[in-house]
Amino acid sequence: MKNKEFFDVVIIGGGPSGSNAAISYKKLNPDLRVAVIDKEFFPRDKSCGDAIGPGVINALKRFGNDHILEGEPKVISTTLFGPKNIGIHNYIPKVKNKEDSIVYVIPRLDLDNRIFNLAKQAGAHAFEGYRYSKFINNGRSLLVEIENKNKEQLLIETKLLVGADGANSRVRKSLNLNQNSDWNKAIAIRAYIDSPNYVEIFKERTLMFEINVSAIKGYAWAFPSNGDLVNIGIGVPLSLFKKEKMDINCLLEDFIKTLNGRGVTVDNLRMEKSFILPFASSRPKLAHDRVALIGDAGSMINPMSGEGIFYGMEAGYLLAKETHHLINEDTSVINSGINKYEKVFNKRFGKHFLSCSLARVVFQSPFMTKRLLAIASLNQHTIDFVVELLFDEANLTIKEVFLLVVKILLPLNILKLLKKTTT
Ligand SMILES: Cc1cc2nc3c(=O)[nH]c(=O)nc-3n(C[C@H](O)[C@H](O)[C@H](O)COP(=O)(O)OP(=O)(O)OC[C@H]3O[C@@H](n4cnc5c(N)ncnc54)[C@H](O)[C@@H]3O)c2cc1C
Repeated sequence: MKNKEFFDVVIIGGGPSGSNAAISYKKLNPDLRVAVIDKEFFPRDKSCGDAIGPGVINALKRFGNDHILEGEPKVISTTLFGPKNIGIHNYIPKVKNKEDSIVYVIPRLDLDNRIFNLAKQAGAHAFEGYRYSKFINNGRSLLVEIENKNKEQLLIETKLLVGADGANSRVRKSLNLNQNSDWNKAIAIRAYIDSPNYVEIFKERTLMFEINVSAIKGYAWAFPSNGDLVNIGIGVPLSLFKKEKMDINCLLEDFIKTLNGRGVTVDNLRMEKSFILPFASSRPKLAHDRVALIGDAGSMINPMSGEGIFYGMEAGYLLAKETHHLINEDTSVINSGINKYEKVFNKRFGKHFLSCSLARVVFQSPFMTKRLLAIASLNQHTIDFVVELLFDEANLTIKEVFLLVVKILLPLNILKLLKKTTT
């Protein structure tokens, strides 16, 4: 006989997307009974670059929760390398509607635990060590089945189910939605190292990116965290990875050689972990009958930067904003709120994701990467724009495309001359 409980909203997955959805529901409507279910016990690790930018800071500030970032070292710049060792350095530009031009690099083991705790403090009920298996829709409510490692099952009746269960989402499977195609996914490996001279080599705490250097069509990073701790990793499109029969550990070894070549000391390599990134270049339908998808479960990762925490957290907030006051209404009213969430999310991020998808295609060409980085090294507007695509909600407008095409066609000598006359 299964035990049965009741919650107004049931969120599967206590990562940043699910936890922020829980925080948002409880802050917007404290009367709601909200449950967050995760198969793991927190703190739990997650393969990630661990970088959170102005968007996440803003999402935490919304409900006065940015205190969880206090005392963390700030990263203020990016250093981007392309083929032939072209490197450009830039400060993180001011981004639209967000006041902080900084990035933090906090291991997810720690960061996710802090956000999960915020959800519990806000009044959400946590079920840790419980795996979601399926739901049944009886028309008036949903019956959600979860199970722990001892095979103890629990049935939870709810009015709204949120799939925030990451890249291999089981909620998404329950909705009979396909996973992203391999072209719209990447595989990446993350590891931690100690590097006593990283900050000295790059002169300051900078996020180092590499495009088309250690792996063709690949993207590698080295992000400085607390003290000597540096998060490093490398990723490639999954389609290419399979076609070329690549080995993810070999890619990491090659990147470490590149880091050594730049003079970076790499000590105590540990916690290597690879995982899939479902890109927002192909998003499933997010709104369903009393069910919504957010975060990686809804393929919300920026195809250019690999950033996903911000978009998932913002999706959790937008879903709560559009539905928190409708939970006790009829199915059709709740569903209209869920549909509104999808509309608002796509309106806000659709063009941005499309721009980043196009940029990803361009950056997959070593020739174009080299050319664009050469232009960016001579033209502040271009580098600001590339960095905004990495961190913010910037779009490729017709004007931007026109300016870029002109700069690509112009001989570099003319750009050098223009740079001299404007400085
Ligand atoms: C190598 C790598 C580097 C990345 N670097 C960055 C970066 O630097 N910055 C950035 O912003 N993003 C980065 N991303 C993307 C980022 O990790 C994700 O976008 C982010 O974790 C999405 O959060 P989420 O809450 O949607 O999913 P997750 O963080 O994956 O959380 C999902 C949760 O659901 C739980 N779960 C899964 N299945 C079930 C089930 N059946 N029942 C119950 N619980 C379940 C899991 O245990 C997990 O806790 C990176 C991704 C990878 C793979």
